[in-house]
This record gives sequence, C-alpha cells and structure tokens, in this order.
Amino acid sequence: MTPPPAPAMAAESDAVHGGRRRHVLLFPLPYQGHINPMFRLAGLLHARGFSVTVFHTHFNAPDPARHPQYRFVPVPVPDGTSGPAPAAIEDVIAQILALGAACESGFRDRLAAVLEEYSRDAVACLIADAHLLPIFEVTAKLAVPTLALRTGSAACFACFLAYPMLFEKGYLPVKGMSSDPASVRQSQRDMPVSELTPYRVRDLMVFLGDDDRGSLRELLARAVTAVKVSSGLILNTFDALERRELEGLRRDLTVPVFDIGPLHKFSPAGDSSLLRQDRSCLDWLDARPPASALYVSFGSLACMSPRDLVETAWGIAGSGVPFLWVVRPGMVRGSAHQEQELPEGFEAATRGRGMVVAWAPQEEVLRHRAVGGFWTHNGWNSTTESVCEGVPMLCCPYFGDQMGNARYVEHVWRVGFEVGGELERGAVEAAIRRLITGKDGAEMRARAGELKKAAEECIGKGGSSCLAIDKLIAHMTSL
Ligand code: UDP
Repeated sequence: MTPPPAPAMAAESDAVHGGRRRHVLLFPLPYQGHINPMFRLAGLLHARGFSVTVFHTHFNAPDPARHPQYRFVPVPVPDGTSGPAPAAIEDVIAQILALGAACESGFRDRLAAVLEEYSRDAVACLIADAHLLPIFEVTAKLAVPTLALRTGSAACFACFLAYPMLFEKGYLPVKGMSSDPASVRQSQRDMPVSELTPYRVRDLMVFLGDDDRGSLRELLARAVTAVKVSSGLILNTFDALERRELEGLRRDLTVPVFDIGPLHKFSPAGDSSLLRQDRSCLDWLDARPPASALYVSFGSLACMSPRDLVETAWGIAGSGVPFLWVVRPGMVRGSAHQEQELPEGFEAATRGRGMVVAWAPQEEVLRHRAVGGFWTHNGWNSTTESVCEGVPMLCCPYFGDQMGNARYVEHVWRVGFEVGGELERGAVEAAIRRLITGKDGAEMRARAGELKKAAEECIGKGGSSCLAIDKLIAHMTSL
C-alpha cells in the first residue's frame, strides 16, 4: 500500500493564524513504541500547516538533526530518574511513573518560556502521551488545552477504564500470578471476561495484578485521569479494525475520540528510530520468492530468557523456512551482545537461508513482497504495521497490552495464532511451517489481505480516518 499524498497546507482559518502557522506542542513518552506514533502525528500536523515543537527528556532523546523542520525543547530531569531502559516490565512501569513526576517542574519552566515566546494565541494545543499525567496537570494550570495520545488499541484503553471493575468483580487479582504464575490453574487463566469480550483473564494486563506496590493499577488509573482531564483522545487505530470498541469508548468517555490511525500510513517515515536500522536486510529479501520468508521481531522492550532464545533459534532452524530475525542488543536477559546470544551451530545450520540483524526497517520489511509471516510480540505498532501490509502473524506476547492484541489477532481478525505455552523447538517449527506454508496460514494471509484493503479504505479520500483527522484539526483550532 503506498501512503496517500501528503495533505495540502491548511487554509488560513485552519492551522494558520494571523498569516503565521499555529504551533502545536508535543510531548512523547520516551520509548520507541510511543515515539514512533507521536512523530507520525507530528508529520501529519506539520503537513496540515502547524509548526511543531517537541518537548523531550534526555532519556531516549530524539535527534534534532533528523527533523530539521521541528523545534526541540529538552526538559531537564533530576539525576537518577532516567535510562537505561530496564529489562523487567515492573521496572519499566516504575520508570514511566518516575519520569513523569521528574519532568514536572522542568516542563513547567520550559512551557512558560515557550508560551511567552510564541504568544499564547499562536499555540493551538499540546498533545502529550496519556502516560504523562504530570504534563496534563502543568498545562491545565497554564490554561493550555491538551489532547491525549494513547498509542495502544481502543480495546486496550477500554481495559484501562475497566480495571477498577475487574478488581470489584473478582477477575483480578489473579491469586498466585505474581508469586508463582505456573501454579495458576488453566481454567482460571481461560475464564472469559464477559464485560470485555473477547478477553479472557489471561489477556488482561494481569501479571502485576496482585503486586503489592500496585504500580500497574496506578499507571493505568493515571492514564485514564489524563484522558478524562484532556480535551480529547487520539488513538492510533481505525474504524475497520475496532468499530465496536470505538463505539464503546465514545459511550463511556465525555471527551471526543479521534481514531486517526494507522498513523504510519499518513506521514512519511521521519526517522524516529532510536537504534540504527540495518537496511541490508531489504537486499537480502529482494532475492527471496514472494511470501516465502518469516520476519521475527519482538520489539524494543521485550526480553527473553536464554532458554527461550535457544528454543526459538532451533525452532527457526528446524522449520526450514527462510527468515529475517531481529536480535536486539540486550534482548536476552543477562546478555548485552548479539554474538554471545545465538546458540553455537545456529549460523552454520541456517547459512544461506536466514539473516540476523540488530534492528530492521520494520515497516519496509513488512511491506516487502518476500515476507510471508511475522513472528511478533504483538506490540500495538507491530500489530497494526503487519495488518496494514496483509502479513499474518505468529503471536508471542510478553506483557502489557500484547496479550490482548494477540487475542484480537487470533480470535477477532483471525489473521494469526498464538505459539502457546512454554517455547519449545518442536512446537515452534510446526507453528512456523503452519504460518508460512500451511493451508490455514494461507487462509490467514487472505484475511490479512482483506484487512489491508479495509485499512486502505479508511485512509483513502473520505475514509473514516481521513474524516477523523479533519475533525481533530477543526477541534484543535477551536480550543
Ligand atoms: N521496529 C523497528 N525495527 C525493528 C523492530 C521494531 O523499526 O527491528 C519498530 C516497529 O516498526 C514499531 C516499533 O519499533 O513501530 C515497536 O513498537 P511496538 O508497539 O510494536 O512494540 P514495543 O517496542 O513498544 O514493545
């Protein structure tokens, strides 16, 4: 699917004020899966006539040289509250909560200076990641209207809203989940959550559900508060994918909801990658037959055990399928170097049939005709990027919203299936073959092709996402 042409510069009444571009201020959460959609939104708004100013932390800071059209404002945080990105999800949650709090006073000063410089009238609004509640509190005090960007699915945000109910009704906490997950009965994991169909208990963000610190509950509650105090919720999803879930959110929220995704199809690939993308894999794919290769990547945060890496590697090797595998530095717990991570003999066993890179140009890889399947952790960006290219998925969710996304892939859209249970090389081999060369893999590919077409309609002229973008811009300029 080729991206639609960049939208024309907005009219005088729109993003241009008194003959000058109006400013939109952005504050992304500094993780790859949150930075990418925010920068796509920046590209879209810039093309519609806004001047873009990006506030950012030093942790995972963007490179201003790669975005000369934007202004960047670093926000100082006290020492000890930033980087490097932790490996355990509990620590990522703690880091997100700490980062927001640490930014507050530095952001207040920087925002006040920016408002004075631009003049208050020239600033349309600020758009912040929904996980940065302290930013919403500062902007409220300075009377700057603020929109929330949630980078996950509509279904996932409905789950955030439902979290207190899940505790009241006894779905959560799942007893024993944080101390001894293996002891939790299958029936308990598979219990349907009738209020959040098609989720089962295992698809909720449960792993910290009975954690003493309650940090996950706090994180979700704060994101809900941020959205409720905002002037609107922007979601990187689209009508054809989540119509029912979007209707539910519109019923449950009093703020408007703008489903303007898939953002990566609206805005050129501004380079917001934190790691260098190894483009040589595209040449490697050029030499492969159509739909023959498996692309394997678990995103920017998920970490696997050394044992799972070994099973994954030998499963890939044993499948006989050509593969492109992203082994990110630090992806395996307790190891920092790719060379140390792959089992001895793997390279020889797969020579000429596979390529391993540290980081790939994922959107281009998924768009490549040689890619026949995606073994993914089901981060929301990876999931939508795959859907939009008609690539079926082998799902291996690790944490957070990934289990729920995998549930939709398998059960609702039927464009993939989960590699269930403990990773084991025999099961991995069979799953890869089923996806790439199997009959039902072909059926999933056909359904993914239908979803790709539906996505194209949403982003085409008069499509739901295009209309939502127009509504968003009208809303931003009316605030
Ligand atoms: N990505 C990439 N190269 C890679 C792997 C991932 O550019 O080798 C990008 C991918 O296209 C996506 C983002 O990193 O936009 C990962 O976001 P996602 O929500 O899928 O997962 P997260 O990293 O947040 O777990």
